Amino acid sequence: GQVAFITGGGSGIGFRIAEIFMRHGCRTVIASRNLQRVSEASKKLVAATGQQCLPLSMDVRQPQTIVAAVDEALKEFKRIDILINGAAGNFLCPASALSFNAFKTVMDIDTLGTFNTSKVVFEKYFRDHGGVIVNITATLSYRGQALQVHAGAAKAAIDAMTRHLAVEWGPSNIRVNSLAPGPITGTEGFRRLGGKFAERSDHFSAIPLQRAGNKTEIAHSALYLASPLSSYVTGTTLVVDGGSWLTSPNSFSALLGVWAAGANQ
Ligand code: NAP
Repeated sequence: GQVAFITGGGSGIGFRIAEIFMRHGCRTVIASRNLQRVSEASKKLVAATGQQCLPLSMDVRQPQTIVAAVDEALKEFKRIDILINGAAGNFLCPASALSFNAFKTVMDIDTLGTFNTSKVVFEKYFRDHGGVIVNITATLSYRGQALQVHAGAAKAAIDAMTRHLAVEWGPSNIRVNSLAPGPITGTEGFRRLGGKFAERSDHFSAIPLQRAGNKTEIAHSALYLASPLSSYVTGTTLVVDGGSWLTSPNSFSALLGVWAAGANQ
């Protein structure tokens, strides 16, 4: 009976979060830039789960589009209980080859986009009713992952935001947590960040659980953070990576090879 507003819900991890939430009786709003993408995703989600799903076009970098989308969601469902900040952009690139604009774009989408959306949902609904925010981050900054200065910096800033907002908004009955996935198969992130290369080179045997994760495992973790099962959990980051960041090789030269071979194309 709850309503989840999921940015980036039309694809990858965000789509699976929407599906799993809907299978647990939640209605969803899936919002991203490409209306056709979210509309098609919404049809699939409704057919698979029998729940309602409202697809909306929105750019997390443009606050006025977020305001319009949140207004539309509230008009349709009269409530928002859960915000999943999943919208992001990423690619492999050495810092020396990264343009000023490329770094800024990732910060704009990931970091500012998470703040913009959280602020709009807070002002329009959570301030008066409480709510739950789950920010999808990453483990990239924990060990300074090569070719990832842009995304690592952007996601680390979101983890900081998680703690700041948990402290400021806790008294309004709002919980704020981060969920940091490891390498997740069947996603755009996996494809762009050299996942196939990692599979071929037996990179995953270095992960304590000996494999990449899957989208359902991330969605189940998001479900935990969004549900009353985690009612006393706020301001923290749940790492869902099979222990990956503790042991995986941070191989600069191998990743440079993937980048040079055009893994980003
Ligand atoms: P994905 O399918 O590419 O998802 C990213 C989504 O963000 C897309 O649906 C995209 O839709 C949306 N988006 C991008 N820019 C936007 C903007 N300016 N405004 C609104 N929406 C925007 O990638 P994914 O691999 O599933 O990743 C999902 C999340 O998990 C991301 O936060 C990512 O950083 C995180 N993550 C993934 C992995 C992994 O292995 N895949 C690992 C760690 C963390 P439009 O193009 O329609 O806007």
